[in-house]
Amino acid sequence: MASSRRKFIKEATAVAGTLGIGSWWSKAWSRPPVHAQLEGSGRAVMASTWNHGMLANDEGFAALEAGGNALDMIEAGARLVEADAEGLSVGIGGLPDRDGHVTLDACIMDHTQNAGSVCFVQDVAHPITLARKVMEKTPHVMLAGAGAEQYARELGMKPTNLLTDKARKAWEKWQTTSNYEPVINIENHDTIGLLALDHAGRLAGGCTTSGVAYKMHGRVGDSPIIGAGLYVDGAVGGATATGLGEAVMRTVGSFLVVELMRQGASPQEACYEAVQRIIRSMPTDDLQVGYLALGRNGEVGGHAIHGGFNYAFHQQAEPKGTVQRVLIDASHG
Ligand code: ASP
Repeated sequence: MASSRRKFIKEATAVAGTLGIGSWWSKAWSRPPVHAQLEGSGRAVMASTWNHGMLANDEGFAALEAGGNALDMIEAGARLVEADAEGLSVGIGGLPDRDGHVTLDACIMDHTQNAGSVCFVQDVAHPITLARKVMEKTPHVMLAGAGAEQYARELGMKPTNLLTDKARKAWEKWQTTSNYEPVINIENHDTIGLLALDHAGRLAGGCTTSGVAYKMHGRVGDSPIIGAGLYVDGAVGGATATGLGEAVMRTVGSFLVVELMRQGASPQEACYEAVQRIIRSMPTDDLQVGYLALGRNGEVGGHAIHGGFNYAFHQQAEPKGTVQRVLIDASHG
């Protein structure tokens, strides 16, 4: 540990002692940087929100099998769901905004706190890949709107019409009443949030969505916001959110989950507490939010405001072992 860091921790711990916040504080903040302690348990894990997480995780493990790492697992899983034209809230087929435009948000993050994000992008088939390019090839974390689309073209990503007939018909029907009454968990809460841990101990996460249906043109939700829709800290774990982005952003939900885990909460306990923060601060009868978390030891947990939230959990004990696949009901865990 560098001496300046040691000095800071010593002084800060003394201050914590005088404030009476004691040992959990120093324990939580004195962990060495992840680069110094990266070690695999030999176990690989992937957890993704909702039913479509099962196929996303399969795709993630296929990427791992092909020699990829945790980040490749995330990108592969997210791309599969983005390409599914039947899904109404991710990638092609997503329900448009009130003006009829499909606008997408996505972000990705790795265990070294590299992060990339795109928001309010149109005609881009794979925003998760664009977010990864922002992370890996630019000095920035987030690109928005026309600038993100311009960057996609520079990378050779061809413009793709994302408004399917099914989504257009739903939008036209909505226009006749302008009365959108989504069924919680079904109609517009299948944003995919993905978390992965590879055999070498690298963590990564991603989140991709078309956002809330019939939103105002220009609205951006939590999904591309680092700390809201997604957060990963390689020394602690990762978290992701699904549901009404406004509630997640107001409580900086995914960051909160990871920080609670840093202080000793299990992934399950951390998700539960982040949900309580929302319940305590705003009316929740008509809104759903679900959190999913993965600790750096491979433990997962999830919790949501209302019933019906589930996530897919895959794990492989060793590189050549069988991949166990399970869909977990996280409603009231
Ligand atoms: N979180 C997404 C948003 O608010 C939508 C969702 O998950 O339902 O944009």
